[in-house]
Amino acid sequence: MGWYNLNVLPDLNLGDVVHLRKPHPCGGYEWKVVRLGADIGLECVRCGRRVLLSRRELSHRMKSIIPRGPHDLPEV
Ligand SMILES: [Zn+2]
Repeated sequence: MGWYNLNVLPDLNLGDVVHLRKPHPCGGYEWKVVRLGADIGLECVRCGRRVLLSRRELSHRMKSIIPRGPHDLPEV
């Protein structure tokens, strides 16, 4: 019975933005969710670089999720 097997992450949706604890070398803290699967694909909002993280890794590195509503403010 794993309380913390795969459910370590709250619900993520494509297009959500996650805030990580450590900044990317480019200085950005925000990453957009571009792929959902066994691994989570993230795109740096600032420089556009993409990475793949396992759910477990992401749950360790993530600080918060910024959900994107349909009428949210446009990206910078
Ligand atoms: Zn970056």
